[in-house]
Amino acid sequence: MNENWHVREAGDVLAELASGPRGLGAEEAAHRLAEYGPNALPQAEPPSALRRFLAQFNSALIYFLLASAAAASAIGHFVDAGVILAVVLVNAVVGFLQEGKAQRALAAIAALVAPHANVLRDGRREGVAVADLVPGDIVLIEAGDRVPADLRLTVAHALTIDEALLTGESVAAAKTTAPAPAEAALGERHSMAYSGTLVAAGQGRGVVTATGRETEIGHIGTLVGTVDAGTTPLLRQMDGFGRRITVLIGLGSLVLFLFAVLARGYGWSEALIAVVALAVGVMPEGLPAVMTIALAIGVQRMAARKAVVRLLPAVETVGATSVICTDKTGTLTRNEMTARRVAVPGHDLFATGGGYAPDGKLESEGDDVAALAASLPLLRCAVLCNDARLHPVDGQWRVEGDPMEGALLALAGKAGIDTLHLRSEWTRRDTVPFDARHRFMATVNHGADGRTYLCVKGAPERLLHLCTRQLMPDGSIVPLDSRHWHLLVEEAAAAGERVLAFAAAEAPAGPIRADALGAEPVFLGLVGFIDPARDEAVAAIAECRSAGIAVKMITGDHAATALAIARALNLADRPLVATGADVDRLSDADLPDFVQKADVFARTSPEHKLRIVQALQSRGAVVAMTGDGVNDAPSLKQADVGIAMGGKGTDAAREAARIVLLDDNFASIVAAVREGRTVYDNIRKVIAWTLPTNGGEGLTVIAAIAAGVVMPMSAVQILWVNLVTAVTLGLALAFEPAEPGLMARPPRSAGAPLLDGFMAWRVVFVSLLFALACLGVFHLAQAQGRDLETARTMVVNTLVVLEIFYLFNVRYLSLPSVTLRGFLGTPAVLWAVGLVSLAQLLFTYVPLFQEVFGTRALTLAEGAVPVAAGVGLMIALEAEKAVLRRFRLFGQGGAA
Ligand code: ADP
Ligand code: MG
Repeated sequence: MNENWHVREAGDVLAELASGPRGLGAEEAAHRLAEYGPNALPQAEPPSALRRFLAQFNSALIYFLLASAAAASAIGHFVDAGVILAVVLVNAVVGFLQEGKAQRALAAIAALVAPHANVLRDGRREGVAVADLVPGDIVLIEAGDRVPADLRLTVAHALTIDEALLTGESVAAAKTTAPAPAEAALGERHSMAYSGTLVAAGQGRGVVTATGRETEIGHIGTLVGTVDAGTTPLLRQMDGFGRRITVLIGLGSLVLFLFAVLARGYGWSEALIAVVALAVGVMPEGLPAVMTIALAIGVQRMAARKAVVRLLPAVETVGATSVICTDKTGTLTRNEMTARRVAVPGHDLFATGGGYAPDGKLESEGDDVAALAASLPLLRCAVLCNDARLHPVDGQWRVEGDPMEGALLALAGKAGIDTLHLRSEWTRRDTVPFDARHRFMATVNHGADGRTYLCVKGAPERLLHLCTRQLMPDGSIVPLDSRHWHLLVEEAAAAGERVLAFAAAEAPAGPIRADALGAEPVFLGLVGFIDPARDEAVAAIAECRSAGIAVKMITGDHAATALAIARALNLADRPLVATGADVDRLSDADLPDFVQKADVFARTSPEHKLRIVQALQSRGAVVAMTGDGVNDAPSLKQADVGIAMGGKGTDAAREAARIVLLDDNFASIVAAVREGRTVYDNIRKVIAWTLPTNGGEGLTVIAAIAAGVVMPMSAVQILWVNLVTAVTLGLALAFEPAEPGLMARPPRSAGAPLLDGFMAWRVVFVSLLFALACLGVFHLAQAQGRDLETARTMVVNTLVVLEIFYLFNVRYLSLPSVTLRGFLGTPAVLWAVGLVSLAQLLFTYVPLFQEVFGTRALTLAEGAVPVAAGVGLMIALEAEKAVLRRFRLFGQGGAA
């Protein structure tokens, strides 16, 4: 194929690619897709299964276990070595399987946010998966989009593209449609837009010249990375903890070994195997895998609630969110706009009918015909200065593009205007696209009367500032009645309407810019839109308020409109409104106080968001911030949890965010916070279960050695307990649902350590109870004349039963566990308990197991002893919780 696309006229390129201004037909596109293949870069190979399996062994904890197995076999304890290896293997297999499951889930979730491109097919604008683009497709691009394929531009309005990815040039390159010189380097081919580069500003369209590997970026041979599970502060904290505890246990074991041999007269090989078993028992080797699994479950649950996590750390950070800064339009409101009110000089009109159907009428209090005639210039401007389209889908009218612009088309339809016909007659010559910074849009259209017109629509203050004259119904042009319009705007906005102003002028045909419109527009009038608040947002805001999470609305809209919506949502008891201008006025020192107090920020531009986030963070807040535009990227990156809109958001915003909302809905943010809190709770529960159970096991043995008495469990029995409980019972806690009252507590503080005072207390208290119970049972059994084997069998069963009871207790860190809900458990809990019970029956009653582990069958009465111990433990722990609740002594994840 010809490579010199940039040198040739746009028309030639279209012709050569057998395309046209209406784009390709659906059939032709499918045909070409089969011929050229998908528009995708080759994927990096995911790590092989073997590699992933081997990676499971790569931790300090596992190395220690392997060394222990080696030590055990060196002194001839092959059974013990075998059980230790079994522990390692079970751990690796569970980790491997769960991790695989998590990775598949993450990949499926990533596919949910696979990028789409806007193309023209059969003359209709359509969203198409980027992978389905073919040479000849006409692609529309605008600020914030990643260019989806190599394009020869056919239209460019104030278009600049950041090509740093390809050229290393950090200043965005200006684009035009004129041919570039043949010798132009990549960065100077101003008539081309290259795949993977980012549209910094403006709008354009182009014909696809190359896809997939054939693109410039494809030539470089970049590979698309697979989903990166990433690490999180929590996992890193745990990793460090794992290493420290390994060293600690190693040293402790050495001391204990020396003490046992030198001071207590145990034989060295007997002492060695006991100490090795003890070390293995105390080692929390399952913890890292279980924590990763808990995070992955959080990712899945959030995705089910329409919040797609792009980076794993977001799962834990989102749970700590203390302030949510949110957009208004589409997030708190439905973004289903209906134009209700039209005000032109001398006439007020009301539109009937809802939705985007052009059914309904424009009514006025006076002469309808005269009012309609007077509003025609405004309505014409509204249709021309407009990028949306309406089309029926299954009998329902749908908008393609901005809902507010769609509502304007429906309004014009109600007035009897044939919008398609009007647009084809008044062809557009140039555009200044809407930008949240200048808050208006302008077009230049070549009129049916042979003259050229400028059409402008935008925020009323903006247009009232631009204009000095207004158009009267008789066609005369008089000075602007600024006061009248301002009053009208205030009145409509106070009623919650979103107000847009319109202006037009005859103008020269030359190109226009936001700061050089070529003519002074004449004010035409206003349109007021209603955009109802989302019902679910009201409930979500109430949930935030009870959860101690502040909600701040940040909008480009008018202060009065924003306030009315804030009231409807019950955002605060008496919502306090600030504006972008207030934010500009305040110094960095004064801003934090101000920002903490205000609930609504109106007439802001994306730049304000960055200062607002920073101000909140300077007071220790964990900030979640939503955004959709290209200029929102800096604030999304700055926020602790950047949240991009999946629907109306740009690629730039999505890439800067940690979470993408599939439904753009505020309620989904709150659902994600809830899941984030649940994950964090579950991780605390896993730790709160693992450490004391291991500790209890260790303490029992240490106490026996210290006292110089017979060990209540043999080495191989300690290893057995470790084998059957570590990845079953501990893992079950990763699947816990949200605790009741989860959203009634304040957010946890950002830097709080996992192992706080409450955790430390739990570890000590529960370890002691475990040791007491085990030694007690051992003593009792022997005192009643049972042989050592039977006594030990009873002790091992006691230990396991205690672990099960403690599991039920820990499911509610602070609330009572003896409830129906607590008793019924989750499928994961019931599976784990069932499995462990089965294992204990085998251990106690099957001859082969009795042989290997030195156990004896227990009578019913003997079997009742461990259960009684479990009930005793439950009572003690429930009493502890009641006392701690009474004195509010729980840590960050605990009671309110
Ligand atoms: P929001 O926070 O409600 O999304 P935006 O930043 O999108 O606010 O818009 C701010 C203001 O800019 C609106 O109140 C409106 O007056 C004006 N505006 C929004 N969209 C357009 C558009 N497509 N064309 C012209 N003006 C617009
Ligand atoms: Mg908007």
